[in-house]
Amino acid sequence: MVILKDNILIGILGGGQLAMMMVEMSAKLKHIEFIVVDPSDSPPASKVANCIKSEFDNKEVLDKLINECSLVTIDFENVPAETLKYLEKKIPVYPGSYAVSICQDRLKEKNLFNKSNVPTTPYEKVDSLEQLENAVNIIGRDSILKSRTLGYDGKNQQFIGKNKLDEIWNISGRKSSILEKKVNFKTEVSLIGINTHDGEKIFYPLVENFHNNGILNYSIAPYKNETLQKKAESFYINISNSLNYVGVLVIEFFIDSNDNLIANEMAPRVHNSGHWTNEGANINQFEAHISAISGKKVNEIKLSENSAMINILSKMPKNILSYDKSIKVYDYGKKERINRKIGHLSFISKDRKTLLKKVESIKKIIF
Ligand code: ADP
Ligand code: MG
Repeated sequence: MVILKDNILIGILGGGQLAMMMVEMSAKLKHIEFIVVDPSDSPPASKVANCIKSEFDNKEVLDKLINECSLVTIDFENVPAETLKYLEKKIPVYPGSYAVSICQDRLKEKNLFNKSNVPTTPYEKVDSLEQLENAVNIIGRDSILKSRTLGYDGKNQQFIGKNKLDEIWNISGRKSSILEKKVNFKTEVSLIGINTHDGEKIFYPLVENFHNNGILNYSIAPYKNETLQKKAESFYINISNSLNYVGVLVIEFFIDSNDNLIANEMAPRVHNSGHWTNEGANINQFEAHISAISGKKVNEIKLSENSAMINILSKMPKNILSYDKSIKVYDYGKKERINRKIGHLSFISKDRKTLLKKVESIKKIIF
């Protein structure tokens, strides 16, 4: 369905930095305005759009969105599926409740990868200590227990190793979980793709991601490997078709020592590993998402340079601005807190070596 109209209001559920950048970075798309819903006081997006302070299940607020918006999107995948179902009876919601409900649950997500012929690391469902013991017998101790829901930035994950299983089970909070085999990966990449209303898929090149303690520290694009790019795109097409997806969807992969792609997880939204597109691509991921969901044409993605994106965690460094004027500094205006993503840095270079050198020197300042 193409929704192109003269003036449209887009509702965004969640007012974090992703919503903020959806508004800011799509400013050149004419005749689109935004209204954001977020339960917290002055979230990042409230600086750039009207923001309603509300929980996501407030029917009055949802009815306001139904009455005033042309469509709704999300900046946060843990919006209750019920909320999306309620909205999508009346107005278009991209991504829809089905896709989001799969992405909210690691078990459903990995089952969908496998049904779509996309390889994953071996995993088992764990709902009790007994099931954890069985799963460890099958998968081995080089494995990670992950809660099925509400995990992000490496949270709600426990490495098994030599630990006692009853202790791990208690520490994990005895939540519905999966046990998955640890992947001895060479590196990690993600594929950011745009799904239009008529089923077209437009891809960015793979981006290489570097995590520490489960949190993305920095990303370098492009990860140039034509074979893996094609393979990742074919996996992506299988997955997004089974989700009937519209908008930006991101899939994270491990690359193992034999150069196999192993799907890890996906995000039904714009993604931290796509922030480099603001400086490094002809169309940034935020504008691409807003264009795709509102039925505007999305052109082919082109890059002319190499890009780096470095997350600012915990504390805003004071000296970055004076360090190098070619570095774009994003400050989300969030309160400083240990390991919280409060901003990022982004820069480009024609020469990859120069770019990597600069990444190394900035890493020393901020990590
Ligand atoms: P989230 O990003 O939602 O916290 P992930 O599953 O992506 O959860 O885990 C975060 C990071 O932890 C990954 O990017 C990776 O670096 C590491 N990790 C997660 N699962 C595995 C695994 N099975 N093998 C090796 N490393 C893993
Ligand atoms: Mg992840």
